[in-house]
Amino acid sequence: MHTHSSVSDGTETPAELMRAAKEAGIGTVALTDHDSTAGWDAATAAARAEQITLIPGMEFSTRVDYSSVHLLAYLFDPTDVGIVTEITRIRAARLTRAEQMVQRIAFDYAITWDDVLAQTTLDATVGRPHIADALVARGHALTRSDAFAGILHWKSGYYQPHYAPDPLRAVELVRAAGGVPVIAHPATRGAADVIPEARLARLAQAGLFGLELEHRENRPEATAHLAVLAEKYGLFITGSSDYHGTGKPNRLGENTTTPEVLERIIDQGRGSAPRYA
Ligand code: AMP
Ligand code: ZN
Ligand code: FE
Ligand code: FE
Repeated sequence: MHTHSSVSDGTETPAELMRAAKEAGIGTVALTDHDSTAGWDAATAAARAEQITLIPGMEFSTRVDYSSVHLLAYLFDPTDVGIVTEITRIRAARLTRAEQMVQRIAFDYAITWDDVLAQTTLDATVGRPHIADALVARGHALTRSDAFAGILHWKSGYYQPHYAPDPLRAVELVRAAGGVPVIAHPATRGAADVIPEARLARLAQAGLFGLELEHRENRPEATAHLAVLAEKYGLFITGSSDYHGTGKPNRLGENTTTPEVLERIIDQGRGSAPRYA
């Protein structure tokens, strides 16, 4: 229920990703590129050819102060004006932000903006992973993860945030576009920094469907705490790999969502239909 293609920062095209899902023995897969639905058509054709079901989705960038909060959105209308306006703005801000980060990095390491562009496909949602790939290509880091642990870390001094809406607004936009919103990897920080209960209550009231508690980057105590809150506020629990091809160690199918929860998502999704095999 959470994968990335070359439309954002995954290393495989949407069609290659559908073939990889088939090979991994997965029957239903969601494509959730960052702030873009540009991969939906190619993924639909490939999923049909591979006889697997595709849930069209997106990972919506949102932000609270300096922390980014990722919102998975499923089965929304990709032509909805509210969503299109917001993701157009986010993608533009991501581009400016990446360029500014590269300018700062270039004071200390040989790297140019063209190096980064060489790592992206046309109109891709640009992020730190593309800068990481450029750093690897220049020999300044061994892998993407190595770049994230060093030069691209938020504490490195080169980091800069980008514009993104508040999660509450994003939840409202997704529901207004007929979609189903789930907070991605909500427990990656320590229990103390986890989404506060009052905020979660407001998000639930605005239509939040669930929490992606089964994800390799969630921390155990924070996850346990959120599981209690999910129960209290009637939120569903999902699990997914957050696959990025060779860009991250996460493997397809390492976490999965139960058929019962998937059925609820499909029931509530009114903006787009699942692409059945
Ligand atoms: P950004 O949104 O541009 O700040 O970059 C965050 C993206 O980088 C997310 O999609 C993450 O999945 C990805 N990412 C974070 N850490 C790593 C890592 N260690 N290796 C590869 N990708 C990562
Ligand atoms: Zn990503
Ligand atoms: Fe994410
Ligand atoms: Fe992701």
